[in-house]
Amino acid sequence: MDENKLITFFKKKRKDFPILKQKVKGHDLIYFDNGATSQKPQVVIDSLVEYYTKYNSNVHRGIHTLSEEATLKFEAVRGRVAKFISGNEDEIVFTNGTTQSLNFLAGGLSHKVTKGDEIVISRMEHHANIVPWQELCKRTGAKLKYIELTDDGRLDLKSANKVINDKTRIVSIAHVSNVLGTVNQVKDIIKLAKKFGAYSILDGAQAVPHMKINVRDLDCDFYVFSAHKMYGPTGVGVLYGKYSSLEDLEPVNFGGSMIYEVFGEESTYNKIPFKFEAGTPNIADVIAFEKAINYLEETGLDNITKYEGLLTKYFLEKISQVEDLTLYGPKNPKDRAAVFSFNIEGIHSHDMSSILDKFGIAIRAGHHCAMPLMANYNVSATCRASLGLYNTIEEIDKFIEVLKKAKSIYEKGDIF
Ligand code: PMP
Repeated sequence: MDENKLITFFKKKRKDFPILKQKVKGHDLIYFDNGATSQKPQVVIDSLVEYYTKYNSNVHRGIHTLSEEATLKFEAVRGRVAKFISGNEDEIVFTNGTTQSLNFLAGGLSHKVTKGDEIVISRMEHHANIVPWQELCKRTGAKLKYIELTDDGRLDLKSANKVINDKTRIVSIAHVSNVLGTVNQVKDIIKLAKKFGAYSILDGAQAVPHMKINVRDLDCDFYVFSAHKMYGPTGVGVLYGKYSSLEDLEPVNFGGSMIYEVFGEESTYNKIPFKFEAGTPNIADVIAFEKAINYLEETGLDNITKYEGLLTKYFLEKISQVEDLTLYGPKNPKDRAAVFSFNIEGIHSHDMSSILDKFGIAIRAGHHCAMPLMANYNVSATCRASLGLYNTIEEIDKFIEVLKKAKSIYEKGDIF
């Protein structure tokens, strides 16, 4: 598709998202907070309503029509997710989100870590990929090591070469930064982890909505992500693991469904992946998740990457014209997804977010659950605009217009 066709194609997609039709503070809603969560197309919303109105029932247990239908639909999604990322069905564990997936990994690999070992993450991680490892280190006596960043917000491979060594047991890094938008050189990092026999984990929360993911090609041990950032429902996450790596993982949640047999004193566990899914799963949302995957595939991941690349290039050009603005992260559009963190001198990010909200523009302000990264840049907070497939060039223009007059609005005290 050439550029004009691509733009027309994606403009039409907006009508699939009912929430985007509304006005906020008298303006057409411009939703630039997709990094926090994306909006949902009608097909996803319909699927949730259909489940609760037609076949709400628990899965894996009942021998009755509704339960069989729910189980069939629920289990079909496992295969769908596997195909979506080029894994196998028995390598997909459903969780309630990226955070839980990472906690399952930190807890489930703890028996592989002892005093003196090292866990490696990077300076740009989300708290979900920091705190579980800090906790694991506290319990085992292992040390947490950081891959530092280059000046333009990329992983410094020299630093990676230094910190990943024969003491390293686990390397866990973001595929795409939720603050800087950096698309990390994950294959280099995975290779390094392999060289020293360490497990490699990718936090794909910000990558999956923007690009085609192939876990076989990446060759990582584990890949984790959340449905709600990929136009799917909240409360569903994925923990992909290579089968042999899942064999090394111990369950951290115990109870119904994850067992094979329970005796008075001990139990045996179900096979992989079911032994990692204790209790009633989030049935309705997992089933609706499939609709989001279908939506992404029908739109075409390559089209999405291309279109968002076009928006990124345009955004970077336009934002460089705003005075007194610092943009964090890579300057080259090729190195980043459509996630942009910035500050305007003299205006706190919370005030900036309020100014934009007056014009119906939703961004995020704060530390973005990445306090070590904020410390790295010597700031306490930034503004973050994160774009999705329904955003447009015209919306970027409106956004830049407001940024250009933000100082005068702020100086007049006309924020709320
Ligand atoms: N990692 C990254 C890179 C993220 O952006 C987020 C969500 N902001 C998370 C992890 C946590 O995801 P969730 O809240 O869906 O568990």
